[in-house]
Amino acid sequence: MKEKKQLDKMEKIISLSKRRGFVFQGSEIYGGMGGTYSYGPLGVELKNNIKQLWWKKFVQDRTNIVGIDGPILLHPKLWVVSGHAEGFGDAMVDCKECKKRFRADHLVEDAIGKDLEGKIEEMTKIIKEEKIKCPNCGKVNWTDVKEFNMMFKTQMNGVEGDIFLRPETAGAIFIEFKNVMDSTRQKLPFGIAQIGKAFRNEIVAGNFIFRLREFEQMEIEYLIRPQENWEPIFDNWLNLQEEFAMELGAKKEDLRRLEHPREKLSHYSKKTIDIEYKFPFGFKELYGLAHRGDFDLTQHTEFSNEKLEYFDQETGERFIPHIIEPTFGVERSLLLALLSAYTEEEVEGEIRVVLKFPNKLAPIKIAFLPLSKKDELTEPTKKLFDKFKEKFICQYDETQSIGKRYRRQDEVGTPYCVTFDFDSLGDNSVTVRDRDTMKQERVKIEDLEIYLNEKFHSNE
Ligand code: ATP
Repeated sequence: MKEKKQLDKMEKIISLSKRRGFVFQGSEIYGGMGGTYSYGPLGVELKNNIKQLWWKKFVQDRTNIVGIDGPILLHPKLWVVSGHAEGFGDAMVDCKECKKRFRADHLVEDAIGKDLEGKIEEMTKIIKEEKIKCPNCGKVNWTDVKEFNMMFKTQMNGVEGDIFLRPETAGAIFIEFKNVMDSTRQKLPFGIAQIGKAFRNEIVAGNFIFRLREFEQMEIEYLIRPQENWEPIFDNWLNLQEEFAMELGAKKEDLRRLEHPREKLSHYSKKTIDIEYKFPFGFKELYGLAHRGDFDLTQHTEFSNEKLEYFDQETGERFIPHIIEPTFGVERSLLLALLSAYTEEEVEGEIRVVLKFPNKLAPIKIAFLPLSKKDELTEPTKKLFDKFKEKFICQYDETQSIGKRYRRQDEVGTPYCVTFDFDSLGDNSVTVRDRDTMKQERVKIEDLEIYLNEKFHSNE
């Protein structure tokens, strides 16, 4: 029952997202493209707010993390050196009856409770021996398990070799390590951050914007000395990742940490933890944190013309730093923000839908509403809108009844509505309505800026 309620909530969010312009299915008029979405007028604001919050917290507010914006198209060698060209894929198996394709490791794990990721032949054997039924049609008629590379391949004029759309943003950071170090004179420990698109040809995309083929990541490569006691630094990053999720609205109890067992770790990783969030379809990875050792910089040093070393001016030593890599998905953050904010309340026998976003995330901060469409009210309201739009993202709306306009703003999460009515002409005051409490306060127009500034700052 509880599960069904959660899934209903997801349906409601998908429908609200389309109706109010947060998220649209990609290429919808041509029948849609799985795993791609467009962000509508409110979705793009929300997404930008999430990215800005992240950039401020992890780059602008810190002295030892700097940002870059690297290209999506990177040299073909990079993907060979990083291991992605050979090994960035999933083991898949097809049902010969209904032609549906599934992650083989997931089928096996559900059937025998053992994770055999990477063990292709064993998985083929077990799927056949255990007579695992197709989750779609219930038949037992499987192909052998096969590896599929998830990178999108393309070509580039004048470059030999396969060009791939990057499947993660980290690659560009590694290869710019020296440029960043030389141009910023950062001392260890320091980080390089990037926000950008990543592309993965996921076999099974789905759960709305949870698993996409085109998405965005916010990543940091945090460089430390090899001999440094890395565990407290790692733990601190875990805390910061969870803190960020909570700033987006997540409750602490809806987050949990899942450590990758030794046998599933890449050979170079000392520790990898997924931070999972309780989505309506279960606890799933929200963000990841990995200790990558010196693998990436060592590989690029070996196969490029550049020594990606750090020079310690105090000791005169040169060495390759170790890396701790926190990764955040933008769309999973956005889904979390929508899920955490979505609230239904009964007010006077009717259901009020409210997106209770933290103020910083709200796509529209203040709505300016004249009580009626009469010029004597619309003109001064527009003037207020013009003044406040310089400081806040505002909206002006004069259509339909005031009650309906309040509900519309609630539904998209606007924290404050300012209404200019006939009394305003005489008392030079407006009504400010609070989204969450629905309380209305009369505020003098001359005090409105201070009043709203205080509201927004006290809620930071
Ligand atoms: P999953 O186990 O869910 O496939 P992953 O372990 O492959 O994820 P990473 O390679 O660690 O993911 O990517 C880092 C982050 O990028 C993830 O924590 C997630 O937030 C985001 N991410 C990864 N793949 C996708 C995707 N297909 N769609 C949307 N976001 C994604």
